[in-house]
Amino acid sequence: MTYKKLFEPLNLGFTSIKNRVIMGSMHTGLEESENGFERMAAYFSERARGGVGMIITGGIGPNEEAALGSAMLSNDSEAAQHRTVTEAVHAADPDVKICMQILHTGPLAYNEKLVAPSAIKSRIAPFVPNELDADGVQKQINDHVRCAKLAKQAGYDGVEIIGSAGYLISTFLVEKTNKRTDEYGGSYENRMRFALEIVQKIRAAVGDEFIVIFRIAAMDMLQGGMSWDEVVQLAQGLEKAGVNIISTHFTWHESAVPTIATMVPRAAFSQVTGRIRQNVNVPMITSNRINMPHVAEEVLQRGDADLVSMARPMLADAELVNKAREGREDEINTCIGCNQACLDHSFAGKSVSCLVNPRACHETLLSYEKTSSPKNIAVVGAGPAGMAYATVAAERGHKVTLYDAANEIGGQFNLAKQIPGKEEFYETLRYYGRMIEKLGINLQLNTRADADMLAAAGYDNIIIATGINPRTPDLEGIDHPMVMSYIDAIRGNKPVGKKVAILGAGGIGFDVSELISHKGVSAAMDIDVFAREWGVDFDNHPRGGVTGVDPITAIADREIFLMQRKETPVGRGLGKTTGWTHRMALGRRGVKMLNGIEYVRIDDDGLHIMRENKPELLPVDTIIVCAGQDPARELYDAGQAQGLPVERVGGAYEAAELDAKAAINQACHMAAQI
Ligand code: FAD
Ligand code: NAP
Ligand code: SF4
Repeated sequence: MTYKKLFEPLNLGFTSIKNRVIMGSMHTGLEESENGFERMAAYFSERARGGVGMIITGGIGPNEEAALGSAMLSNDSEAAQHRTVTEAVHAADPDVKICMQILHTGPLAYNEKLVAPSAIKSRIAPFVPNELDADGVQKQINDHVRCAKLAKQAGYDGVEIIGSAGYLISTFLVEKTNKRTDEYGGSYENRMRFALEIVQKIRAAVGDEFIVIFRIAAMDMLQGGMSWDEVVQLAQGLEKAGVNIISTHFTWHESAVPTIATMVPRAAFSQVTGRIRQNVNVPMITSNRINMPHVAEEVLQRGDADLVSMARPMLADAELVNKAREGREDEINTCIGCNQACLDHSFAGKSVSCLVNPRACHETLLSYEKTSSPKNIAVVGAGPAGMAYATVAAERGHKVTLYDAANEIGGQFNLAKQIPGKEEFYETLRYYGRMIEKLGINLQLNTRADADMLAAAGYDNIIIATGINPRTPDLEGIDHPMVMSYIDAIRGNKPVGKKVAILGAGGIGFDVSELISHKGVSAAMDIDVFAREWGVDFDNHPRGGVTGVDPITAIADREIFLMQRKETPVGRGLGKTTGWTHRMALGRRGVKMLNGIEYVRIDDDGLHIMRENKPELLPVDTIIVCAGQDPARELYDAGQAQGLPVERVGGAYEAAELDAKAAINQACHMAAQI
């Protein structure tokens, strides 16, 4: 594709940004890790070499009460540490800009010193914040200014001030979190004062030749949130106060509309940035679910923004921009919006990485160096584990033959991609398909490998990536014709009736429920459908974009019972940042989620269960088994019996707790070492 806009420099007067792609801010936990600054230096400079125009770091707190973790910039010695990062990025490419995000978490801080305009606890926070007094307000403003000055001293090209998401500055702006009666509360002019004074004072302190970006909540997705007029007024106020760029964010963390999950259509929110852009004269950044260069180009060509922020896509592929420039888009390892290794890890306090790229944030710990002793390797199974192993081993210089019994690569991803809302999984299959071709891997489809053929070929190493066998519960009547596996249900091998019991409410039980309760176009593929399902009014922009808008979801054509034996709430094991969206979506379609169920037997009348110690009959006509999986280790056992050099990876190694994140991660680590 030719990119008319993506590679145009953006002139800011005193400096310019070499192209229109920004790596958006993400908290990775590196900020607080051992050797964190060295690791961040490697992580960011890899992205700088990858072609991005400007990098925004993860959020750094201006003081103790503000910090997200312990990452703070409040004195000279902390500034000296940040130099490790800025120098590495500028050494990697002197034309790449790096700005530090100043993040004051306000009422979302995880410490008891937390502060806010009013003592109002956020729905998602553990503590009630301390209300700032008049001196406290000035202290917070001054600490932001000190932080910006120190960022300049540390060699950053600018700062981004976050004024969205439910963090401190945004809670001044919104009436329901700001009940102050002084000059920082009451009228909207007063509520904006905190944000505007921070910008004015930062500008005065850092001079004109330092990039100041402010991130606003362009649509905060809060009932009673900011109105359209307030958003525009804020943007215009920020322009006057001296920002160089306005960045748009959508949602507060506590809102009930998904804005970055994979079921959100690509670039769904950029239209809102576009409308604000018509009211200001500074460049604007848009973001959210822009994961491929052609999507970014379309956003720019529509005039929705001057710059496009891609955050998670830069975890998935550090070289995304170079690949676009060189016409190698088919080699981009695309972010699938799953949140599994990035945001879910961040919220759980685990080290952040990427499901499709385990090297992300682990650049100094996991490297794919060329081997000095190439081996002849067979990889059996072209699911996520096998594809990852084969491509990393081949990239390192090994000779690889990849077998799969099926007529296509991908393993279970070929089931996952058929679930409405998981269309991005096609991208991972496209990426691996291209890499298999590019790296010269000998791909043998329609080939069920056995121990004899592997022995005859004389491989140095044999990697068994044969995946899983679906588990069949030991239950009277499980052979009844109304019973089918999730594989048959997803592939459409057997007809699914009108009254369905799903045994097992893990990730696959939820996905099957999604598939069979769904009607019409997938929301992920159509912004209007998405807006209707989640109650967002893009056209009229009521307060928060959602106030007074009822979600409209078609009730499923079938009666569906999604069940588990555990007493815990159904769906508790799903991803921390996405599980609620699945529970909410299925609930709105009328799917009944039952926990604490004992399965008794299946017969012509349906499924007999015990619920709350009482026998019950669910008169269903279809039962879909989603009861977990066991390793498919038959080939491994046969290979071992013959003394072949076999090793297992992915589901073939361990099926419990196994997902694609674990499978790819394990495979990449093993292949990096062989
Ligand atoms: P598999 O994907 O099962 O691949 C094994 C491959 O081996 C298969 O292609 C098979 O044909 C081949 N094979 C087996 N025996 C032989 C043989 N003898 N010779 C040749 N080939 C052989 N995970 C996530 O992390 N996130 C998700 O959102 C997600 N969604 C999912 C949705 C669905 C509907 C399903 C079914 C799974 C989902 N998963 C998800 C799980 C994820 O797909 C699996 O964890 C992952 O595919 C396991 O990878 P694997 O390579 O170990 O095994
Ligand atoms: P899973 O998440 O382990 O769930 C298995 C379900 O089956 C559980 O609800 C379990 O609950 C039930 N179960 C287990 N043994 C049973 C038995 N003998 N009889 C009846 N029920 C039984 O596994 P999965 O749903 O098969 O998913 C496989 C992997 O893919 C998981 O790691 C999952 O995370 C991943 N995946 C992820 C996503 C995602 O969106 N992130 C989507 C799909 C799949 P009880 O024991 O309480 O009944
Ligand atoms: Fe994207 Fe998933 Fe990787 Fe996060 S873990 S960057 S959402 S592919």
